[in-house]
Amino acid sequence: MEFIDTHSHLYDEAFSSEEDIAVTRAVEAGVTKMILPDIDASTREAMFTLAERHPDTLFPTLGLHPTSVSQNWKEELDAVEKSLGNHKIWAIGEVGIDCYWSKEFLEQQKEVFRVQLEIAHKSDLPVIIHSRESTELIINILRDYKHLPSRGVFHAYSGSVETFHELEKLGDWYIGIGGVLTYKKASIAETVKNIPLERILLETDSPYLTPVPHRGKRNESSYIPHIAEKLALQKGIDIAEVAKVTTENAKRLFRI
Ligand SMILES: [Zn+2]
Repeated sequence: MEFIDTHSHLYDEAFSSEEDIAVTRAVEAGVTKMILPDIDASTREAMFTLAERHPDTLFPTLGLHPTSVSQNWKEELDAVEKSLGNHKIWAIGEVGIDCYWSKEFLEQQKEVFRVQLEIAHKSDLPVIIHSRESTELIINILRDYKHLPSRGVFHAYSGSVETFHELEKLGDWYIGIGGVLTYKKASIAETVKNIPLERILLETDSPYLTPVPHRGKRNESSYIPHIAEKLALQKGIDIAEVAKVTTENAKRLFRI
Protein backbone atom coordinates (compact mmCIF):
# COMPACT_ATOMS: atom_id res chain seq x y z
CA MET A 1 0.00 0.00 0.00
CA GLU A 2 1.13 3.51 -0.80
CA PHE A 3 0.07 6.63 1.13
CA ILE A 4 0.75 10.37 0.81
CA ASP A 5 0.84 12.71 3.82
CA THR A 6 -0.53 15.96 2.40
CA HIS A 7 0.28 18.08 5.47
CA SER A 8 3.45 17.54 7.49
CA HIS A 9 5.66 20.10 9.25
CA LEU A 10 8.59 17.68 9.46
CA TYR A 11 10.99 20.64 9.47
CA ASP A 12 9.47 21.87 12.76
CA GLU A 13 11.92 22.28 15.63
CA ALA A 14 9.94 19.59 17.50
CA PHE A 15 11.93 17.12 15.38
CA SER A 16 15.27 18.77 16.32
CA SER A 17 17.78 16.54 14.53
CA GLU A 18 15.41 13.64 13.90
CA GLU A 19 13.67 14.89 10.77
CA ASP A 20 15.62 12.64 8.39
CA ILE A 21 14.89 9.59 10.54
CA ALA A 22 11.21 10.59 10.54
CA VAL A 23 11.26 10.70 6.72
CA THR A 24 12.82 7.21 6.59
CA ARG A 25 10.26 5.83 9.07
CA ALA A 26 7.44 7.29 6.98
CA VAL A 27 8.72 5.72 3.75
CA GLU A 28 9.07 2.37 5.56
CA ALA A 29 5.42 2.69 6.64
CA GLY A 30 4.37 3.15 3.00
CA VAL A 31 4.10 6.96 3.14
CA THR A 32 6.10 7.55 -0.03
CA LYS A 33 5.50 11.30 -0.39
CA MET A 34 4.90 14.19 2.00
CA ILE A 35 3.76 17.76 1.36
CA LEU A 36 5.53 20.30 3.61
CA PRO A 37 3.30 23.35 4.21
CA ASP A 38 5.06 26.65 4.81
CA ILE A 39 4.40 28.89 7.87
CA ASP A 40 6.41 32.13 7.56
CA ALA A 41 9.90 33.56 6.99
CA SER A 42 11.20 32.12 10.27
CA THR A 43 10.59 28.49 9.24
CA ARG A 44 11.13 28.69 5.48
CA GLU A 45 14.84 27.95 5.35
CA ALA A 46 14.51 24.84 7.51
CA MET A 47 11.71 23.62 5.22
CA PHE A 48 13.60 24.10 1.95
CA THR A 49 16.84 22.67 3.38
CA LEU A 50 15.07 19.48 4.48
CA ALA A 51 13.16 19.20 1.20
CA GLU A 52 16.38 19.52 -0.83
CA ARG A 53 17.80 16.48 0.95
CA HIS A 54 14.77 14.36 -0.11
CA PRO A 55 13.74 15.69 -3.53
CA ASP A 56 11.63 12.66 -4.56
CA THR A 57 9.85 12.38 -1.21
CA LEU A 58 9.28 15.87 0.20
CA PHE A 59 7.35 18.61 -1.61
CA PRO A 60 7.55 22.11 -0.09
CA THR A 61 4.96 24.88 -0.50
CA LEU A 62 4.99 28.63 0.04
CA GLY A 63 2.60 30.81 1.96
CA LEU A 64 2.07 33.03 4.97
CA HIS A 65 0.10 31.24 7.71
CA PRO A 66 -2.81 33.30 9.11
CA THR A 67 -1.52 33.06 12.70
CA SER A 68 1.74 34.65 11.47
CA VAL A 69 -0.07 37.75 10.13
CA SER A 70 0.86 40.70 12.39
CA GLN A 71 2.44 44.18 12.14
CA ASN A 72 5.04 43.04 9.60
CA TRP A 73 2.53 41.35 7.25
CA LYS A 74 3.66 43.34 4.22
CA GLU A 75 7.30 42.29 4.65
CA GLU A 76 6.20 38.71 5.16
CA LEU A 77 4.11 38.80 1.99
CA ASP A 78 7.06 40.29 0.05
CA ALA A 79 9.23 37.44 1.32
CA VAL A 80 6.69 34.92 -0.05
CA GLU A 81 6.73 36.56 -3.48
CA LYS A 82 10.53 36.69 -3.49
CA SER A 83 10.85 32.99 -2.64
CA LEU A 84 8.40 32.13 -5.43
CA GLY A 85 11.04 32.80 -8.06
CA ASN A 86 13.83 31.03 -6.17
CA HIS A 87 12.31 27.65 -5.32
CA LYS A 88 10.26 24.94 -6.96
CA ILE A 89 7.07 24.62 -4.92
CA TRP A 90 3.92 22.51 -5.22
CA ALA A 91 1.23 24.67 -3.59
CA ILE A 92 0.42 27.98 -1.96
CA GLY A 93 -0.09 27.33 1.75
CA GLU A 94 -0.82 27.23 4.34
CA VAL A 95 -3.03 30.27 4.00
CA GLY A 96 -6.45 31.24 5.30
CA ILE A 97 -8.06 32.83 8.34
CA ASP A 98 -7.77 31.96 12.03
CA CYS A 99 -10.23 33.58 14.44
CA TYR A 100 -9.38 31.19 17.27
CA TRP A 101 -5.92 32.42 18.26
CA SER A 102 -6.55 36.13 17.68
CA LYS A 103 -8.79 38.52 15.76
CA GLU A 104 -6.43 41.47 16.25
CA PHE A 105 -5.26 41.35 12.63
CA LEU A 106 -8.42 39.91 11.11
CA GLU A 107 -8.68 42.51 8.32
CA GLN A 108 -5.02 41.94 7.44
CA GLN A 109 -5.57 38.16 7.52
CA LYS A 110 -8.32 38.57 4.93
CA GLU A 111 -6.16 40.77 2.73
CA VAL A 112 -3.18 38.41 2.95
CA PHE A 113 -5.45 35.47 2.10
CA ARG A 114 -6.84 37.28 -0.97
CA VAL A 115 -3.39 38.23 -2.26
CA GLN A 116 -2.20 34.63 -1.85
CA LEU A 117 -5.27 33.26 -3.68
CA GLU A 118 -4.29 35.51 -6.57
CA ILE A 119 -0.69 34.26 -6.43
CA ALA A 120 -1.98 30.66 -6.56
CA HIS A 121 -4.12 31.47 -9.57
CA LYS A 122 -1.30 33.25 -11.43
CA SER A 123 1.13 30.43 -10.65
CA ASP A 124 -1.41 27.69 -11.46
CA LEU A 125 -0.89 26.09 -8.04
CA PRO A 126 -3.31 24.47 -5.59
CA VAL A 127 -4.04 26.16 -2.24
CA ILE A 128 -3.72 24.64 1.23
CA ILE A 129 -6.28 26.32 3.47
CA HIS A 130 -6.04 26.72 7.23
CA SER A 131 -9.45 27.55 8.67
CA ARG A 132 -10.19 27.92 12.36
CA GLU A 133 -13.52 29.40 13.46
CA SER A 134 -13.56 31.13 10.08
CA THR A 135 -15.30 28.78 7.61
CA GLU A 136 -17.95 31.34 6.69
CA LEU A 137 -15.37 34.11 6.09
CA ILE A 138 -13.25 31.83 3.91
CA ILE A 139 -16.19 30.57 1.85
CA ASN A 140 -17.25 34.19 1.26
CA ILE A 141 -13.81 35.12 -0.03
CA LEU A 142 -13.67 32.02 -2.26
CA ARG A 143 -17.07 33.07 -3.60
CA ASP A 144 -15.60 36.48 -4.54
CA TYR A 145 -12.98 34.62 -6.56
CA LYS A 146 -15.41 32.21 -8.17
CA HIS A 147 -14.56 33.61 -11.61
CA LEU A 148 -10.98 32.30 -11.24
CA PRO A 149 -10.52 28.54 -11.41
CA SER A 150 -9.40 27.42 -7.95
CA ARG A 151 -8.29 24.12 -6.53
CA GLY A 152 -6.94 23.01 -3.21
CA VAL A 153 -7.53 21.40 0.14
CA PHE A 154 -9.26 22.46 3.34
CA HIS A 155 -6.68 21.13 5.77
CA ALA A 156 -7.81 19.57 9.11
CA TYR A 157 -11.40 19.70 7.93
CA SER A 158 -13.93 19.96 10.75
CA GLY A 159 -16.87 21.36 8.81
CA SER A 160 -20.22 19.80 7.95
CA VAL A 161 -21.40 17.88 4.89
CA GLU A 162 -23.35 21.02 3.91
CA THR A 163 -20.18 23.13 3.94
CA PHE A 164 -18.47 20.49 1.81
CA HIS A 165 -21.29 20.79 -0.75
CA GLU A 166 -20.78 24.59 -0.74
CA LEU A 167 -17.09 24.06 -1.46
CA GLU A 168 -17.86 21.72 -4.35
CA LYS A 169 -19.59 24.60 -6.11
CA LEU A 170 -16.54 26.86 -5.76
CA GLY A 171 -13.91 24.86 -7.61
CA ASP A 172 -11.86 21.69 -7.42
CA TRP A 173 -11.71 21.29 -3.61
CA TYR A 174 -10.66 18.43 -1.37
CA ILE A 175 -10.82 18.00 2.39
CA GLY A 176 -7.83 16.98 4.53
CA ILE A 177 -8.51 14.33 7.19
CA GLY A 178 -6.06 13.71 10.02
CA GLY A 179 -5.62 12.38 13.53
CA VAL A 180 -8.77 14.05 14.90
CA LEU A 181 -10.72 11.33 13.07
CA THR A 182 -9.35 8.78 15.56
CA TYR A 183 -10.45 10.75 18.65
CA LYS A 184 -13.53 9.72 20.61
CA LYS A 185 -16.64 11.79 19.86
CA ALA A 186 -15.02 13.63 16.90
CA SER A 187 -17.92 14.80 14.70
CA ILE A 188 -15.78 14.41 11.57
CA ALA A 189 -16.01 10.60 12.07
CA GLU A 190 -19.71 10.82 11.14
CA THR A 191 -19.19 13.51 8.47
CA VAL A 192 -16.67 11.45 6.45
CA LYS A 193 -19.33 8.78 5.87
CA ASN A 194 -21.13 11.27 3.62
CA ILE A 195 -18.15 12.68 1.74
CA PRO A 196 -16.92 10.73 -1.30
CA LEU A 197 -13.49 9.15 -0.91
CA GLU A 198 -12.57 10.80 -4.24
CA ARG A 199 -12.60 14.16 -2.36
CA ILE A 200 -10.54 13.14 0.70
CA LEU A 201 -6.80 13.56 1.33
CA LEU A 202 -4.92 12.04 4.26
CA GLU A 203 -2.70 14.24 6.44
CA THR A 204 -0.96 14.18 9.82
CA ASP A 205 -0.29 17.88 10.53
CA SER A 206 2.91 16.63 12.22
CA PRO A 207 4.04 17.42 14.90
CA TYR A 208 0.46 18.20 16.03
CA LEU A 209 -2.86 16.27 16.21
CA THR A 210 -1.32 12.84 16.83
CA PRO A 211 -3.68 9.95 16.04
CA VAL A 212 -4.67 7.19 18.47
CA PRO A 213 -2.82 5.00 19.58
CA HIS A 214 0.08 7.47 19.74
CA ARG A 215 -1.94 10.41 21.09
CA GLY A 216 0.12 12.46 23.55
CA LYS A 217 3.36 11.90 21.63
CA ARG A 218 4.89 14.00 18.84
CA ASN A 219 3.08 13.28 15.57
CA GLU A 220 4.95 12.15 12.44
CA SER A 221 4.12 11.12 8.88
CA SER A 222 4.64 7.39 9.56
CA TYR A 223 1.34 7.45 11.53
CA ILE A 224 -0.76 8.00 8.38
CA PRO A 225 -1.86 4.31 8.26
CA HIS A 226 -3.69 4.76 11.61
CA ILE A 227 -5.78 7.53 10.06
CA ALA A 228 -6.39 5.47 6.90
CA GLU A 229 -7.48 2.50 9.01
CA LYS A 230 -10.07 4.59 10.90
CA LEU A 231 -11.33 6.11 7.64
CA ALA A 232 -11.74 2.61 6.15
CA LEU A 233 -13.67 1.53 9.25
CA GLN A 234 -16.01 4.55 9.12
CA LYS A 235 -16.70 4.05 5.43
CA GLY A 236 -16.96 0.26 5.67
CA ILE A 237 -14.32 -0.33 2.99
CA ASP A 238 -10.88 -1.91 2.80
CA ILE A 239 -7.82 0.12 3.87
CA ALA A 240 -6.21 -0.77 0.52
CA GLU A 241 -9.05 1.12 -1.21
CA VAL A 242 -8.47 4.15 1.06
CA ALA A 243 -4.73 4.04 0.25
CA LYS A 244 -5.29 3.75 -3.49
CA VAL A 245 -7.93 6.47 -3.89
CA THR A 246 -6.48 9.06 -1.48
CA THR A 247 -3.02 8.62 -3.06
CA GLU A 248 -4.48 9.18 -6.53
CA ASN A 249 -6.30 12.27 -5.19
CA ALA A 250 -3.09 13.76 -3.77
CA LYS A 251 -1.11 13.05 -6.94
CA ARG A 252 -3.80 14.69 -9.05
CA LEU A 253 -4.16 17.82 -6.88
CA PHE A 254 -0.45 18.50 -6.28
CA ARG A 255 0.76 17.10 -9.63
CA ILE A 256 3.38 14.93 -7.94
ZN1 LIG B 1 -0.16 23.06 9.31
